Amino acid sequence: MSNAPHDSTSHEQEAEILDAIEKWLERDVRPHVLRLEHADEYPFEWVEQMKELGLFGATISAEYGGLGLPAGTYARIVEKIAETWMSLSGIFNSHLIMAACVERMGTPEQKQTWLPKFATGEIRGGLALTEPDAGTDLQGIKIRAKRDGDHYVINGTKTWISNGIHGTCFALLVKTDTSANPAHKGMSCFLAEKGPGFRVSRKIEKLGYKGIDSAELVFEDFRVPADRLIGGVEGKGLQTALGGLELGRINIAARGCGLASAALRDAVRYSQIRKTFGKPICEHQAIQLKLGEMATRLQAARLLTYEAARAYDRGERCDMEAGMAKYFASEAAVENSLESMRIHGGYGYSKEFHVERYYRDAPLMCIGEGTNELQRMIIARQLIARNPV
Ligand SMILES: Cc1cc2nc3c(=O)[nH]c(=O)nc-3n(C[C@H](O)[C@H](O)[C@H](O)COP(=O)(O)OP(=O)(O)OC[C@H]3O[C@@H](n4cnc5c(N)ncnc54)[C@H](O)[C@@H]3O)c2cc1C
Repeated sequence: MSNAPHDSTSHEQEAEILDAIEKWLERDVRPHVLRLEHADEYPFEWVEQMKELGLFGATISAEYGGLGLPAGTYARIVEKIAETWMSLSGIFNSHLIMAACVERMGTPEQKQTWLPKFATGEIRGGLALTEPDAGTDLQGIKIRAKRDGDHYVINGTKTWISNGIHGTCFALLVKTDTSANPAHKGMSCFLAEKGPGFRVSRKIEKLGYKGIDSAELVFEDFRVPADRLIGGVEGKGLQTALGGLELGRINIAARGCGLASAALRDAVRYSQIRKTFGKPICEHQAIQLKLGEMATRLQAARLLTYEAARAYDRGERCDMEAGMAKYFASEAAVENSLESMRIHGGYGYSKEFHVERYYRDAPLMCIGEGTNELQRMIIARQLIARNPV
């Protein structure tokens, strides 16, 4: 089965969407990014504009009111936005992973109830997996949901949750059976909407990824109706979350491409303006070697990302492809942002230029949606599984 509701999206449709986003970024976003970034200010106005552009429904099927875009087009959108301000992409990316969990694993009623509201952005949120004592090892989560009549009662804490303050609904991974062996058979995923017993305990201050809220969420005797259990059966929570993460990793790879591209673009421009020893620095071989490496790295990252998106759109298992793209593109973002900073010399260290932001934003791509250590293990496991002796 294809993952893409409309993998027939034509090149013209894709070009139209990308053009509309480019115009919006140029007109409304780019001139103000530095101000919002340094004030760590939430972009309320741009969220409304993103609703109008349909971004909160980008990958949700048209039958539920979304744009129904294939992952390939989605990756290009994310890359373009991350080239301007990576934080903005986080506002709709983890929201769309929550939507993907419902669309892939939800009951027909859940899809009808929730997806149209997610698609318009009327209800916005994200994915709540990580806990203070468990990130990579998700089977070690402690949060507990106990059945009580036609409700479940949830107790525990989630941390690092993107959109945790301004979002209202989260795909929440919990344990419904703490004695299950293996542990994932006792894990379930709920749609948890804020209400009594569900509170934000704190905003987490960060190195980069400014503007967007990362928060700790606390659940104390939080009662959630049983019909919010995604898929309607217990024990499928890890599968639900990991299914959503394939798209999540493609989006992180695309964000890495956006950052690597922005770092290169700024370096190419600056190196033609800045002169030392009587000529633009781009004419010095040492700078050319850097630019050549940066451009090649970016191109390789893009090809891996688009290839992973194509595999996703064909409905194939693509954890290996998504893992490779996420790993390579995020490392490319880190390397390109540091090289761009070096090319900018002292100005690269200044807050008056964008390059110091790429340098602060890029490492997150190596951590989020599964660390790069984990990605390499996933790649190796799949490599072995696909090549048995
Ligand atoms: C800005 C930001 C936003 C985030 N947004 C979200 C969100 O919206 N929702 C959400 O659920 N989470 C979110 N996270 C959490 C993120 O997914 C986790 O931080 C990440 O999965 C790593 O988990 P951890 O921090 O617990 O590290 P740990 O799991 O404790 O890992 C620590 C180190 O050990 C390594 N490691 C762990 N296990 C192994 C192993 N078996 N072999 C080798 N190395 C290993 C890791 O690679 C890492 O280097 C966010 C994090 C950040 C920083």
